[in-house]
Amino acid sequence: MSRLVFLGPPGVGKGTQAAGLAQDLGIPHISTGAILRDALERETPTGLEAKKFMDAGELVPDSVVLQLVRDRLAEEDARSGWLLDGYPRNLQQGEALQSLLQEIGDSLDHVIYFECAESELVRRLSGRRTCKTCGSTFHIEFAPVPEQGQCDAGGECEIYQRSDDVEEAILNRLEVYHRETGPLVDHYRSKDQLVVLDGAAPIDEVGVALRSALN
Ligand code: AMP
Repeated sequence: MSRLVFLGPPGVGKGTQAAGLAQDLGIPHISTGAILRDALERETPTGLEAKKFMDAGELVPDSVVLQLVRDRLAEEDARSGWLLDGYPRNLQQGEALQSLLQEIGDSLDHVIYFECAESELVRRLSGRRTCKTCGSTFHIEFAPVPEQGQCDAGGECEIYQRSDDVEEAILNRLEVYHRETGPLVDHYRSKDQLVVLDGAAPIDEVGVALRSALN
């Protein structure tokens, strides 16, 4: 049984690694960002409430995100483990997760932290393009964006640039990351709970390092 948290700055590649690992382990990949984007797309009350924070690269209020995580962890497929990607993101969320896990009789096995220099993150995020249908990501320089074709979800690719992948929001997201998530990383580090990986390495190499760290 694997219960994992992935931490790292935006653009470090944790979503890509999370998707592959969750599939290999047969556990759900729970990305709070993806859940929020889906809610926004469907114009649910949560999605509409989250929109202004997301567009600006700010964090959505802790109580909103906690409810999403609580609901998702209660689903049947999360009984055999889960991979949280993008949650927790600050000390308060870390504490809330700890309490929630205690309440449901679960515990955390590993916290994986992906590191990367900021200049590389800006380069990756500003060139990133996403498929609306399956969530796959591409890059205008490194991972050719398909003009059309079959996407991973079996439909037509619908490529777009996330509204928070534009320069102003990127810089804000990085600042929010340092301010909010930095102390959480330090907290897990001080408890010796952190597995640190080099997120600047090529995708395949990060994947190998990740699997060997978990074995
Ligand atoms: P991500 O896809 O992880 O980069 O998340 C995109 C956006 O969703 C973030 O910039 C936040 O506005 C929001 N978001 C995702 N996860 C959280 C979280 N744990 N706490 C607050 N806001 C979040």
